Amino acid sequence: MKMETLQDLLIDHLKDLYSAENQLIKALPKMAKAASNAELKAGFEEHLEQTKGHATRLEQICKMLNVNPKGKKCAAMEGLIEEGKELLEEDAEEVVLDAGLIAAAQKVEHYEIAAYGTVRTWAEQLELDDAVRLLEETLTEEKQTDEKLTELATSVINEEAEAGAEDEEGDETDASDDEEDEDEEEGEDAGDEAATTSHRGRGR
Ligand code: FE
Ligand code: FE
Repeated sequence: MKMETLQDLLIDHLKDLYSAENQLIKALPKMAKAASNAELKAGFEEHLEQTKGHATRLEQICKMLNVNPKGKKCAAMEGLIEEGKELLEEDAEEVVLDAGLIAAAQKVEHYEIAAYGTVRTWAEQLELDDAVRLLEETLTEEKQTDEKLTELATSVINEEAEAGAEDEEGDETDASDDEEDEDEEEGEDAGDEAATTSHRGRGR
């Protein structure tokens, strides 16, 4: 079918997102299972429930537009999930794997944030008010998820991953002089930073 209007393009992207969300519904339980950090595991489980809601919202929007949400495959999400699978096949320390899982999840969230931002803006242009509202709700949840992942990475997981196996094995290293300067990063604004952007505010 020839795409003649912005609405045709919007529908094409909604179908693509529907495929992306459904691929994620299958992948998130595996990510939760692979995560060691309890908060990260719970975060993936919570986002799985939200993701089911995202798929439902896309169904609602497609119904309003009289189109079938099925019929496309999101190649981008397929690729992101494939890279996540490659990570799971690595022989990695638990906490290092957690840091990698956060990275994989944030790439997914950033893809979704970009895609939902676009379709929300197109729906605004087309004055599809109900669709705008539903897309905005999903976009907000994707952004919150991204921020929570940044927070989890920068408050604990990256630091533990830096120490790697040493910490987990227990007391074989002298931890006493590590502890003093480790609380300084707490409470900083996570903002929009990705997990890998470390910022160490030591200049006080
Ligand atoms: Fe989603
Ligand atoms: Fe998401």
